[in-house]
Amino acid sequence: MGGVDKEFEAYFEALDRAGGKDHCYLCRRTAAEVKRFFGFEEDGVPRDAAEHGIEDVILDQADIMSYRGLRPICAVCQLNFDAIFMLEEHATLALVLKELENDRDRLWPDGSESPEP
Ligand SMILES: [Zn+2]
Repeated sequence: MGGVDKEFEAYFEALDRAGGKDHCYLCRRTAAEVKRFFGFEEDGVPRDAAEHGIEDVILDQADIMSYRGLRPICAVCQLNFDAIFMLEEHATLALVLKELENDRDRLWPDGSESPEP
């Protein structure tokens, strides 16, 4: 099986594990939203490419979302977590997750600043 076939297989297996949801498990960004975040159009061509002198840079699908793990994970979250792990803040990360789960009312007192579900 070739590399492309393997990527497709990994993709569909990941979607199965994620209940068919094709977005980042952590932030729920879709592949298109991740591309926009990094300044690329949906087809992988950079916005304002000529302006930035990066006409030849094309973002590949495999660069923006990983389907190889338990759940799909986007490149934005990977970079954010890379930074947390580099700072060795594993324990803090665990505490933040615990806060998110158990202290919602304290974190978002009147619900008005609660992010969209
Ligand atoms: Zn993400």
